[in-house]
Amino acid sequence: MTKKFYITTPIYYVNARPHIGHAYTTLACDTIARRQRMMGFDTFFLTGTDEHGQKIQRAAEAAGKTPQQLTDEVSAEFRALWDRMGVTYDDYIRTTSDRHKRGVQELWRRIRDNGYIYKGSYTGQYCVFDELYVDVVGPGAPCPECGRPTETVKEENYFFKLSAFTEQLLDLYTGQPDIIRPETRRNEVIAFVRSGLRDLSVSRSSLSWGIPVPDDPKHVIYVWFDALANYITALGYGSDDDSKYKQYWPADVHMVGKEIVRFHCVYWPALLMAARLPVPKSIVAHGWLLFEESKMSKSRGNIVRTETILDVLGADALRYFLLREVVFGQDGSFSFDALVQRYNSDLANGLGNLASRTLAMITRYFKGEVPYPSGAAARRPADDVIVKLAQKTISEYHGLFEQYQFSRALESAWGLIAAVDKYIVENEPWALAEKPDENNRARLATVLYTSADALRIVTALAHPVMPDATAKIWAQLGLGDIRKFPLADLRWGQLHLGTKLGKVEPVFPRADKSAVERMQKMEEQDRTAAVAEAQPASTAAESGASQAVPQLAEPQKTVAPIAASDGKITIDDFAKVELRVALVKVAEKVKGADKLLRLEVDLGTEVRQIVAGLAEAYAPESLIGRKVVIVANLQPRKLRGLESNGMIVAASPEDGKPVLAGFLEDVPIGARLK
Ligand SMILES: [Zn+2]
Repeated sequence: MTKKFYITTPIYYVNARPHIGHAYTTLACDTIARRQRMMGFDTFFLTGTDEHGQKIQRAAEAAGKTPQQLTDEVSAEFRALWDRMGVTYDDYIRTTSDRHKRGVQELWRRIRDNGYIYKGSYTGQYCVFDELYVDVVGPGAPCPECGRPTETVKEENYFFKLSAFTEQLLDLYTGQPDIIRPETRRNEVIAFVRSGLRDLSVSRSSLSWGIPVPDDPKHVIYVWFDALANYITALGYGSDDDSKYKQYWPADVHMVGKEIVRFHCVYWPALLMAARLPVPKSIVAHGWLLFEESKMSKSRGNIVRTETILDVLGADALRYFLLREVVFGQDGSFSFDALVQRYNSDLANGLGNLASRTLAMITRYFKGEVPYPSGAAARRPADDVIVKLAQKTISEYHGLFEQYQFSRALESAWGLIAAVDKYIVENEPWALAEKPDENNRARLATVLYTSADALRIVTALAHPVMPDATAKIWAQLGLGDIRKFPLADLRWGQLHLGTKLGKVEPVFPRADKSAVERMQKMEEQDRTAAVAEAQPASTAAESGASQAVPQLAEPQKTVAPIAASDGKITIDDFAKVELRVALVKVAEKVKGADKLLRLEVDLGTEVRQIVAGLAEAYAPESLIGRKVVIVANLQPRKLRGLESNGMIVAASPEDGKPVLAGFLEDVPIGARLK
């Protein structure tokens, strides 16, 4: 009987558009899923989007859309990106789908009927951003999770008897020690549960964008209850056809970012226990992807879009980089320089070079047919060193991969590439080919067979990580469809003699310096618009003050969250930002930039040039003579080759056009805002 394997990504919250942080989680899961299929498992890989909650409702209102319109758009963007990257998900669940709603309501009924949901009254602080009731006192008290001000709410709510599961959860963590990985996260969760669990509010009556509570539709179900259930509703739980649920549940791996560990390791198993359903086998938490050492966030403007990398280097390069460079479970860093460096050293000069030189020599010296390695006379100890190393690499790689140590697994495989490179140099097949007597001919065959079979082994191992490039090398080796290769049987010597090679072509052309520049430029262009939308929040960030309360990527549900902060800045921090009234003297479009205007503004003491992303909202002539608010002490920077000396302050509604800040009363030019 085939063993099953069920793996899930978190479902991504649609208040942020997809970026490289989301791609990281999804690619890690895709790699695991591809490998499990090659290892012979009946694999099911689920991803999707999380679409309910107050934040979505508010974001939609601000954008003048219905919540459904907004979620349809963003969910489709995620899906299109995964499709473009060749992500092999088996299903894509949306929490606004009927099948999901049905399943969530069924789960609710079951937990309620088992006596674990009751009605109570709640007064307390609620963090809209995290969609969490929090243990703080007083109106506006900062949220302990994210530092944003909380809202006081009082309402009748349904509660889940989480407190009843303290012992069962602790037993679970002890009895099934692999359930939470890595170990550090497991320890954190155990400490949290030991400190005592309070019942969890699982409904809201103050918003409508959610799934109605069965038999009490004035209430909608708490977003986390709703979202976590996707892992079973996607399998048909609560529907007429739950055959997939029976086949695949419990999940073998829930892959999550480290910031959502508590939801997955405490609330989710407790909900399942309350419904008397099996709990997942493991929850694996990865770290955050940092951009040039700082956390990616919309307000910092340092989000890297996946599309940029796909356009310039392709999906395989990104996949390899993320899994090789980041030690799984820890935070990792992304930069374009490091990406291109890795690409050149490990792919162009590493695997790509080994493939092209080995296959080119077989083509030239043996008419493109895998030669017969000598059994005895032409054999040297160096050949057996490669054979042994290859065997060791196979078992090491499998072991590390199963522990999610992708980086070390790849390091081990690339160790074999380096050894074979050295072996080729030392054994000089080109010199052997020059004097083709019988001995040299046998020796040449042995060296090339040894190199080619090592290449085959690395290619098979690396396939789940770099599906496209390895499929090409496999075909060049004359081996057909790599996806059909049973990876569990991989061993030395499976390259058949006389195999006819396919057409040999380079797989990883070297990337020159311009690749970095091109990617930076593409991101710069995308960012220019966002930065020039002039959020007050990014003003604070750029002047070095700690961040206030910008609208950011959702930290609970994505992998590239905001910087931690207590949410408050001192008056001194604010005083660092010099906001002044200025009069627009000149306004004109910037050639070749749809969104940008070049302005000259008068501050009373000086006239300066500012480049701002206002062209879509304001005709240049309508701005002349208008008083605006500018950040006067911003470091100058270049946009489209023009120096911009300051920033114009405007409100920037989500997905809307910027609206300039202004005054109802008359105000002198140069006056400071404080
Ligand atoms: Zn919060």
